[in-house]
Amino acid sequence: MLKGGTALVAVALTAGQEVRARSAPVLPDDARFMQLAIDEAAKADFPFGSVIVKDGEVLAQGHNRTHAERDPTAHGEMVAIRAFLRQHGPEALKGTTLYTSGEPCCMCMGAIIWCGIGRVVFAASIAQLATKIGQIMLTAEDIAAKAPFASIDITGGVLAEDAVRLFK
Ligand SMILES: [Zn+2]
Repeated sequence: MLKGGTALVAVALTAGQEVRARSAPVLPDDARFMQLAIDEAAKADFPFGSVIVKDGEVLAQGHNRTHAERDPTAHGEMVAIRAFLRQHGPEALKGTTLYTSGEPCCMCMGAIIWCGIGRVVFAASIAQLATKIGQIMLTAEDIAAKAPFASIDITGGVLAEDAVRLFK
């Protein structure tokens, strides 16, 4: 019964999210790239994964490695951004799209904004994730709204149920 109750809460939160969030529309390739982020998440210490895409090509990927690296900041997005920087440098990050299985936390969203990433697409929302694991209750849009210098599109809810299902 407890499990059913949790699922109902998640569904209710998703429905609410659809009404007010979504600053940018879902694009045709979003589900394909999100599936790659979810595949990364399936390999992770905590099930979070990311890929960074530019001009239709995946240029970096990462998944949560907080246990493996004994580094609490090794979130999937941070691991992907650091991999990108090592291979391609900071200039190339401008205008990329970051796909992530979970809505970025305030640390990752801050890094995304400082890096000049142009678009973020997430699967499960902070509200959905909070039914599974502790979250800092600020949305990606909350963070972006406090950074008026940054121009970033945010799209949420792509394959959200698949991302939530990775939490046992
Ligand atoms: Zn994070």
